Amino acid sequence: MKRTKIVDIFAPELVGTQVSVKGWVRSRRGNKFVQFVALNDGSTIKNIQIVFDMEKFNEEQLKPITTGASIHVVGQLVESMGKGQTVEVQAESLEVYGTADPDTYPLQKKGHTFEFLREKAHLRPRTNTFGAIFRIRHNMAIAIHQFFHEHGYFYFHTPIITASDCEGAGQMFQVTTKNLYDLKKDENGSIIYDDDFFGKQASLTVSGQLEGELAATALGSIYTFGPTFRAENSNTPRHLAEFWMVEPEVAFADLNDLMDLEEEFIKYCINWALENCNDDLEFLNNMIDKGLIERLKEVVNTEFVRLPYTEGVKILEEAVAAGKKFEFPVYWGCDLASEHERYLVEEHFKKPVIMTDYPKDIKAFYMKLNEDGKTVQGTDVLFPQIGEIIGGSVREENYDKLMTRIEEMNIPMKDMWWYLDTRRFGTVPHAGFGLGFERLLLFVTGMTNIRDVIPFPRTPNNAEF
Ligand code: ATP
Ligand code: MN
Repeated sequence: MKRTKIVDIFAPELVGTQVSVKGWVRSRRGNKFVQFVALNDGSTIKNIQIVFDMEKFNEEQLKPITTGASIHVVGQLVESMGKGQTVEVQAESLEVYGTADPDTYPLQKKGHTFEFLREKAHLRPRTNTFGAIFRIRHNMAIAIHQFFHEHGYFYFHTPIITASDCEGAGQMFQVTTKNLYDLKKDENGSIIYDDDFFGKQASLTVSGQLEGELAATALGSIYTFGPTFRAENSNTPRHLAEFWMVEPEVAFADLNDLMDLEEEFIKYCINWALENCNDDLEFLNNMIDKGLIERLKEVVNTEFVRLPYTEGVKILEEAVAAGKKFEFPVYWGCDLASEHERYLVEEHFKKPVIMTDYPKDIKAFYMKLNEDGKTVQGTDVLFPQIGEIIGGSVREENYDKLMTRIEEMNIPMKDMWWYLDTRRFGTVPHAGFGLGFERLLLFVTGMTNIRDVIPFPRTPNNAEF
């Protein structure tokens, strides 16, 4: 008999038919006449209630049915008399796939802390909360592909292993097959990579942007969506060493096009969650964050503030003059700290802010220089609770101006001739951004620690599972 997924079992036409359900036991309760089992198969946050009439089953048969056990039940789907569910399965046969010893199975029914569950990352997808989060994660990935596909962007695969270090010097993970106990060095003490796998020093990518620019200057509009790696030793609730990044890159786009894209894209994704993840969002709204759904709807219906950095700093300086205390100083030229960004978003404007035109010295070499010679056309999208969710920019398309920045900033461009070729042959204005997928998920789920929106987080001192 074909298995019915629990997500499909609530269809009215199934009432009165025989169904086969399979899943993991969430709980069992009852008395010597009747036993109720809440069964979940991961297809939905909802459980199906299985009713065991103890005239047909004996206590011995039901003994293995403890929290976490996996079972298969065939029975009649009927309307439920009880509270809390519309339908239930009157069990006719029971097969136990696997037991879960109550003395050792870690996920007993009581509420666990997220810290505890992180140490049980191999089992936490079986909890309601993480089931909801990972279903939402899937849906948001679909939303991303759907948005770009609908808008004529091509999904372009950029490499994970890279030999260019111009962006992430110092925070890259090295890739090598060399024997680390026997490293050959030259007379200056530098490691010789000639005999390494790639014949040169290689690392895991920190961003697909540079290769994305190659693609955009050929296919027009592209996006990447893949894992990126940063060995930054920042133990914060918003940084991972391995995270997924969405990076569109668009030929012929200017700053306004870029900001429009950023805003439209985020709203599309959030709206997608509201339309496709209702049950899971409601669960998270009830259990984790009472303001969640309201906040999502608000963002979808709000026009984002577009704020030049210089004006932002002015607002912050005025706040300080009026008595607002920040940990870090604010002045023109400073790299705004998270507390500054959150003040602007959460207290001053009370909406998402796209900050633009940053001082050139605090931004990457490839950002397009403004006519003032001091600021560049970079954008950060700042969100309530999260801070920076997107970093983007118009790229400097002029070869000479780009080279000037590279020299001023001392960027190691060895092995980067291919990137410079985009500016040598048929260069065009273009722009793009990077959105941290897990930062978006933090916002959509209402979770507060980035370790809880990726199945197996990688952070300093943590690569278990
Ligand atoms: P932050 O200032 O928050 O460290 P960043 O300026 O280093 O971020 P970018 O290089 O602009 O980030 O990367 C683009 C986007 O990738 C960011 O807006 C953010 O959403 C995400 N991101 C960056 N670093 C991380 C990280 N370590 N873990 C998760 N997401 C990240
Ligand atoms: Mn950034």
